[in-house]
Amino acid sequence: MLVNQQAVKAIELAIKLVQSYPAYPTTFSTCSDCQSKQAKGGMQCTDCLEDELAELVGYQLAREFHHQIKGQNGQN
Ligand SMILES: [Zn+2]
Repeated sequence: MLVNQQAVKAIELAIKLVQSYPAYPTTFSTCSDCQSKQAKGGMQCTDCLEDELAELVGYQLAREFHHQIKGQNGQN
Protein backbone atom coordinates (compact mmCIF):
# COMPACT_ATOMS: atom_id res chain seq x y z
CA MET A 1 0.00 0.00 0.00
CA LEU A 2 1.32 3.40 -1.01
CA VAL A 3 1.48 5.98 1.74
CA ASN A 4 1.62 9.65 0.88
CA GLN A 5 4.26 10.82 3.36
CA GLN A 6 3.38 14.44 2.74
CA ALA A 7 -0.26 13.82 3.61
CA VAL A 8 0.74 11.92 6.75
CA LYS A 9 2.99 14.81 7.81
CA ALA A 10 0.22 17.32 7.14
CA ILE A 11 -2.19 15.32 9.31
CA GLU A 12 0.39 15.10 12.11
CA LEU A 13 0.86 18.88 11.99
CA ALA A 14 -2.90 19.40 11.96
CA ILE A 15 -3.26 17.23 15.08
CA LYS A 16 -0.49 19.18 16.84
CA LEU A 17 -2.23 22.42 15.96
CA VAL A 18 -5.49 21.14 17.44
CA GLN A 19 -3.64 19.99 20.57
CA SER A 20 -2.15 23.47 20.94
CA TYR A 21 -5.61 24.68 21.90
CA PRO A 22 -6.32 22.46 24.90
CA ALA A 23 -9.78 22.44 26.43
CA TYR A 24 -8.27 22.68 29.89
CA PRO A 25 -5.35 24.67 31.31
CA THR A 26 -2.03 22.97 30.73
CA THR A 27 1.68 23.65 30.88
CA PHE A 28 2.96 26.15 28.36
CA SER A 29 6.61 26.98 27.69
CA THR A 30 8.64 28.69 24.99
CA CYS A 31 8.30 27.41 21.43
CA SER A 32 11.00 24.86 20.52
CA ASP A 33 11.23 26.38 17.05
CA CYS A 34 11.10 30.20 17.08
CA GLN A 35 12.02 30.46 20.80
CA SER A 36 9.82 33.51 21.18
CA LYS A 37 6.16 32.53 21.47
CA GLN A 38 4.34 30.40 23.99
CA ALA A 39 3.80 26.77 23.04
CA LYS A 40 2.20 23.83 24.75
CA GLY A 41 4.78 21.83 26.74
CA GLY A 42 7.91 21.82 24.58
CA MET A 43 6.08 21.78 21.28
CA GLN A 44 6.05 24.35 18.50
CA CYS A 45 3.82 27.40 18.81
CA THR A 46 0.72 27.67 16.65
CA ASP A 47 2.42 30.11 14.26
CA CYS A 48 5.30 27.72 13.58
CA LEU A 49 2.91 24.80 13.16
CA GLU A 50 0.83 26.84 10.73
CA ASP A 51 3.97 27.77 8.76
CA GLU A 52 5.08 24.16 8.54
CA LEU A 53 1.59 23.06 7.51
CA ALA A 54 1.51 25.80 4.88
CA GLU A 55 4.62 24.32 3.26
CA LEU A 56 2.68 21.11 2.71
CA VAL A 57 -0.88 22.17 1.98
CA GLY A 58 -0.44 25.80 0.99
CA TYR A 59 -0.67 29.03 2.92
CA GLN A 60 -4.40 29.62 2.35
CA LEU A 61 -5.51 26.17 3.52
CA ALA A 62 -3.23 26.21 6.56
CA ARG A 63 -4.53 29.63 7.57
CA GLU A 64 -8.18 28.63 7.17
CA PHE A 65 -7.60 25.47 9.18
CA HIS A 66 -5.90 27.41 11.99
CA HIS A 67 -8.73 29.94 12.08
CA GLN A 68 -11.30 27.16 12.35
CA ILE A 69 -9.52 25.63 15.33
CA LYS A 70 -9.27 29.02 17.02
CA GLY A 71 -12.97 29.60 16.40
CA GLN A 72 -13.99 26.27 17.88
CA ASN A 73 -12.16 27.05 21.09
CA GLY A 74 -13.40 30.60 21.31
CA GLN A 75 -9.92 32.07 21.47
CA ASN A 76 -8.66 35.17 19.69
ZN1 LIG B 1 7.23 29.22 17.26
